[in-house]
Amino acid sequence: MSFNDEAVQFTNDDASCSKSFAIQRGYWNDPYILYFYKQTERKSPEISIGYYARVHSIRYLLKEFIKSVNRNCQIVSLGAGYDTTYWNLKDENLSPRSYIEVDFPNVTMKKCRAIKEQCDLLGKLQSEDDDIQLSKTEIHAFDYHLIAVDLREIKQLEQKLKACFIDKNLPTLFISECVLVYMDVDCSENLLKWIAKEFDKPAFINYEQVNMNDRFGELMITNLRQRGTELQGVRACQNLQTQVDRFEQNGWNHVECMKMIDVYRNLPQVDTQRLEKLERFDEKGLLDQLLEHYCLTWVSKGSQAFDVSEISI
Ligand code: SAM
Repeated sequence: MSFNDEAVQFTNDDASCSKSFAIQRGYWNDPYILYFYKQTERKSPEISIGYYARVHSIRYLLKEFIKSVNRNCQIVSLGAGYDTTYWNLKDENLSPRSYIEVDFPNVTMKKCRAIKEQCDLLGKLQSEDDDIQLSKTEIHAFDYHLIAVDLREIKQLEQKLKACFIDKNLPTLFISECVLVYMDVDCSENLLKWIAKEFDKPAFINYEQVNMNDRFGELMITNLRQRGTELQGVRACQNLQTQVDRFEQNGWNHVECMKMIDVYRNLPQVDTQRLEKLERFDEKGLLDQLLEHYCLTWVSKGSQAFDVSEISI
């Protein structure tokens, strides 16, 4: 494992820390994050509002997808980190047929440990008919799988997904939340190409940086570099068009991409007013800058599974 791989894995702690802080401050509700990440460090209101917009918009699209196929689908969360969506969907009676989380072994090991220690989480994985298989880095339960794979190793990914009984004919939604940007563009393109080729009804939600060649974008890159993380995939994050191209040029045909500033403007006013009143917030300019530098892309291949024309955030 390279030094950069270690730094990339640490970005999960960063994301979890920011989510945990925002949740404890009341930006949104999630009873599960504290099972995985307890430490919190103070974050500025614009960071917490940015994370609200990120989590809220991804979950919105994800739920629309699940409802559109009456839950008869699979979700594959790539670079899932300590994401808690599986548990939250369960509470909302919106569980898909199967939910698969993928990350590096070092990350899945810590997630496995946290799940083993919490009866509340383990209990939700139980079914009358199937035993839960737990190893140091992986979990296989009846509707939940946590697997340890480097996403750059497509053969290994394919084998491990097989072990999760993935059905390539079922509508399958892949999610990557701030993940592809940490991979070399050739590797992320191979992954997108492989999914489009192998799956019959695939859909994809991608959230990550955009507009990285302006001054603020360069500052973001420098900031991460100083902490040891190289954004190896930044070439695909130059603007909205490069985000669209990476899908269209790799086998996908319905691509929608929006800057987070536009997603935020589309949120109901009661929500944005509540968010902006939660803490002393006087850096609207900084929030706008941040939201200008992230985007949400939702994609499908074919038309059945994820009719993007029907969905507006
Ligand atoms: N998706 C989670 C979220 O938004 O809370 C975690 C995001 S974190 C910024 C990026 C995650 O992607 C980390 O957990 C990291 O280990 C994972 N990741 C990045 N490159 C990966 C690769 N090649 N294989 C497996 N996981 C990877």
